[in-house]
Amino acid sequence: MTDRKTLLIVTAHPDDETFGCGGALAHYASNGVKVYCACCTRGEAGVYEPENMKGHATVGDMRWYEMECAARTLSLAGIFHLGYRDSGMSGSEDNKNPHALINAPLEQVEGSIVKIIRDLRPQVIITSDPIGGYGHPDHIAVHKATVKAFDAAGDSRQYPEAGSPFAPQKLYYNVFPRRILKLTVTLMPLFGQDPRHLGKNKDIDLASVANVEFPTHASVKLSRNDRDIRDKATDCYASQLDNRPRRRSLLDFLQRLSKEDVDLFMRAYPPVAGKLREEDLFEGTDPLSGTSE
Ligand SMILES: [Zn+2]
Repeated sequence: MTDRKTLLIVTAHPDDETFGCGGALAHYASNGVKVYCACCTRGEAGVYEPENMKGHATVGDMRWYEMECAARTLSLAGIFHLGYRDSGMSGSEDNKNPHALINAPLEQVEGSIVKIIRDLRPQVIITSDPIGGYGHPDHIAVHKATVKAFDAAGDSRQYPEAGSPFAPQKLYYNVFPRRILKLTVTLMPLFGQDPRHLGKNKDIDLASVANVEFPTHASVKLSRNDRDIRDKATDCYASQLDNRPRRRSLLDFLQRLSKEDVDLFMRAYPPVAGKLREEDLFEGTDPLSGTSE
């Protein structure tokens, strides 16, 4: 038993942790929290340029290598691949792959997350929001499985083969500031981009995403150092940046414009009634709790 604070983020693809809330992960890791990332796939369906392969045999190998670089930069305590394959965006050929995350039974994905939770014993868990950030089917799948796993991990009757029960105390969804999203949607046409048809398959509708509001219950303030580390970790994902330099630069510009130096989260558990603005995801947690059964 340990009184060490532990944080687990459950994601779909290499880069979700860094692009989503890399600043907050850097913040906690540099403050002595053990921060782990469980990633369902190795991003096999990601778009990339041939020069990004740099001798890697497969796209999955290349993207996992990038993730190892980001994990070192963020000082994560460990990263885990849960063994599924990237499903790609809705309607792509990758959807049909039998190993794709979206084709795995929900209970199977839930069970593999329960095992990770019981092994690592985190007080706090972070995952995707219910619409998967921008509607990626894998992000939605990982959201559903993590919500169920969060509930199941402390119940000895569920997944008895996955280790001793352990109940994590808080569950958060990483949410992107709506204010910036709305501003992006407004400004995109000026940069020659259509916010309703983004991405390789032109099937990301940022305008709709910007209109789905999520309450913000926690904002983790990022120091200059946290942001520098996040930006260095972002650079590890060269294969995912090369293909969308204009989008990235627009987003960078807007982030600078809005002086956003926080990562935002919606708290799913314990449930929140009314308004709440925590500054620390570990607020109110008991380092020794969750081990009773
Ligand atoms: Zn992703």
